[in-house]
Amino acid sequence: MARYILPTAGSSAGVPPTPFYYYDLDLLRRTLAAAVAAAGRYGYRIHYALKANVEPQILREIQRAGLGADCVSGYEVACAVENGFAPERIVFAGVGKSDREIEQAVEAGIFAFNCESLEELEVIDALAGRAGRRVDVALRINPDVRPDTHEYIATGQAESKFGISYAEIDRALARLHRLSHIRIVGLHFHIGSQIRNLASFAELAERVNGIAAWFAERGVEIAHLNMGGGLGIDYDDPDAEPVPDFEGYFRTFHDRLQVGAGQTVHFELGRSIVAQCGELLTRVLYTKTTAGGARFAIVDAGMTELIRPALYKAHHKIENLTAAGRPMGVYSIAGPICESSDVFARDIPFPETRRGDLLSIRSTGAYGRIMASNYNMRPIAPSRFGGGPDE
Ligand SMILES: *Cc1c(COP(=O)(O)O)cnc(C)c1O
Repeated sequence: MARYILPTAGSSAGVPPTPFYYYDLDLLRRTLAAAVAAAGRYGYRIHYALKANVEPQILREIQRAGLGADCVSGYEVACAVENGFAPERIVFAGVGKSDREIEQAVEAGIFAFNCESLEELEVIDALAGRAGRRVDVALRINPDVRPDTHEYIATGQAESKFGISYAEIDRALARLHRLSHIRIVGLHFHIGSQIRNLASFAELAERVNGIAAWFAERGVEIAHLNMGGGLGIDYDDPDAEPVPDFEGYFRTFHDRLQVGAGQTVHFELGRSIVAQCGELLTRVLYTKTTAGGARFAIVDAGMTELIRPALYKAHHKIENLTAAGRPMGVYSIAGPICESSDVFARDIPFPETRRGDLLSIRSTGAYGRIMASNYNMRPIAPSRFGGGPDE
């Protein structure tokens, strides 16, 4: 089984209470196999970005496929360890790590801290010293690359809050020489998310070459280069590209990135691993027509289940699973939450839709349920799984 299949063909009878997320573990496994094969060709290592989705069944598949973990909070570090990821394959990024989070990660013995400011270097050094440890850090450098994506999910342009400014790397290096409890082992970059244009990654690789050369000229040995994540997926037509273009992605780095002898190259992929295996199932509660003649279908999932459209004007393909043979119309699909931004799609071609119909909002495996909220006192929607060993 792959996509969610109606228990009763053509009708929503027997469908579990909505809304719920459905994950196709079979597609997840195929995606992981493709990613691992494409990265393995060049000896690249992938760390899964936990912030995209932390369902235990999903983490189990990812861990079994041999990926490491990329965490952006101490809670994620703990979650990765609990779910079987080896600490020495966990990286910890984040622009605002608390002392407690740093202490716990020092204790866990993770692979590297991706350090985002000069002050943070001092704090990690002090906390590692207090624990009697020496820890490995990668400097997250803001490369001033402006990827082709929504401004809220672009992180690599000079004015963003992320990373150490490339204008400050000489000061970072001077400071590192005085800090005895941290060892700089890597350079880390992450320019943003949902990047479909591989030219942005080519540009990143070129920038990294310059920055790595700068460190090499100063006698700093860099053991690993971490290129972050950000590979985008096809939200418009998920069936055309269920498995993202990992081949093209890793080849872009292979073609452009200069890798020194003994250097390892790491990636932190989230969305491209888990987005396409998830869908959000929701029922139509009401249909109505505005004074201007626009038709709305109001569904029982909202921005509380999936906030991406409200937060970043993201588009997800929506299908009516129970409208076979009905004529096409034009609909806006909206949730029940008391916010005007709680709209999943506006004026899209959509089959004639009725109360009780079952809709699928596609490509919601990443940044879907993990970003759910209890706004309006709504409970978090459950998850269901298909295509797995548990079936
Ligand atoms: C979010 C994030 C990622 C993953 O990004 P995707 O677009 O989901 O691949 C990787 N690294 C860091 C530091 C992140 O914040």
